[in-house]
Amino acid sequence: MLDIKNIEFFEKVETPFWFYDMDLLRKTVKKVVSLAGQYGIDVHYAVKANEEKRILEYISSAGLGADCVSGNEVLHARSCGFPAEKIVFAGVGKTDREIAEAIKAGIGAFNCESLQEIFVVNAMAARLGTRARVAARINPEVDAHTHRYITTGTCENKFGISAHEFEALISLLGRCGNVDFTGLHFHVGSQITDVEEVYTLVCERVNPIVSYFEDKGVEVRNINLGGGLGISYEDPEGEPVADFETWFRTVSSKIIRRRNQSLHLEPGRSIVAQCGTLVSRVLFVKVGETKNFLVLDAGMNDMIRPALYGAYHRIENLSSKLRPNLPQSQVYDVVGPVCESSDVWGMGRLLPLSVRGDLIAICSAGAYGQSMSNRYNLRDLAPAVYSDDMHGARLRTEYFQD
Ligand SMILES: *Cc1c(COP(=O)(O)O)cnc(C)c1O
Repeated sequence: MLDIKNIEFFEKVETPFWFYDMDLLRKTVKKVVSLAGQYGIDVHYAVKANEEKRILEYISSAGLGADCVSGNEVLHARSCGFPAEKIVFAGVGKTDREIAEAIKAGIGAFNCESLQEIFVVNAMAARLGTRARVAARINPEVDAHTHRYITTGTCENKFGISAHEFEALISLLGRCGNVDFTGLHFHVGSQITDVEEVYTLVCERVNPIVSYFEDKGVEVRNINLGGGLGISYEDPEGEPVADFETWFRTVSSKIIRRRNQSLHLEPGRSIVAQCGTLVSRVLFVKVGETKNFLVLDAGMNDMIRPALYGAYHRIENLSSKLRPNLPQSQVYDVVGPVCESSDVWGMGRLLPLSVRGDLIAICSAGAYGQSMSNRYNLRDLAPAVYSDDMHGARLRTEYFQD
């Protein structure tokens, strides 16, 4: 992913920064577009995984739709080229302003997470003298075998409408004159690696739910199975493109489709994770009594995943690739500069012997990295640099030149 020429250039660039391998993004998106055609599946990219304009513009130009979770994401997706009808809007807490703006924009569907939300969307559409398309997000009560913070489809989660509310939902839809019901939406979690097992279970839960609604005379035109496909954080070089094949094959063989029912998926992480690298520098090497620390200039404000989820990211010393005749290695705790004990990139990592100034790559950082970054400790937001033209690269100031 990162060749020597990149690394030589990075040596001159101010860190930390996000490096995006646009060739890998294009390769990944092309794979998704081709499988989507083959299996007849509509794909909406989950914008929250990475909201960078250049990335969204490429994804929209490739023909994918957008899955948004805030009013600003809907507006941003529009400005990055996604047509309104290809935008869906999920989220448990949509504000009145967000709902009104999305109705006016004419989005493809609200994925509503409660009966009260459907009631409010209907009332707001009536007040605006128009109609809104609505899908119901259902909680299928499937355990996605993933981290509890990214499990969304069990009865203990805040997401979706549960089975005991189905009758009331159908009766509400009958009373809502300003909404067009489009179908059912499910999303059980993220970073799902037992793809066949989990999505088979999801489809086994979804099929009878769809039948239930159809039997009651509610036409389900669209079945949306959400996102969640996992990627390899352990071996990004070996598996640069996620296993979309297994995912698409599993859902399309296990879901029962009636008439012209359409099937939707909403991948976020699996599209952008591997194309992004957080490039950082060693500020200090601290030799402790029992441990050695590498203190980096990138911290949990740049990427909060390790601190928030205990997420694993591969760490590489890029500068050591420019001096291959130094084979020694050392075990380090790799940490950030932020004043929190959880600001740790990795404990006990075996790395080439590292020195102050070495470039360090935090791999598989394209998803939920830059989009979750913040300015804690009043730190600067790291800029993005794109492989196409290295646009955004800021050259480093040398403070210690003679
Ligand atoms: C976050 C989210 C996704 C994307 O999940 P990934 O694990 O990144 O693929 C899809 N759908 C909804 C409703 C989401 O909230």
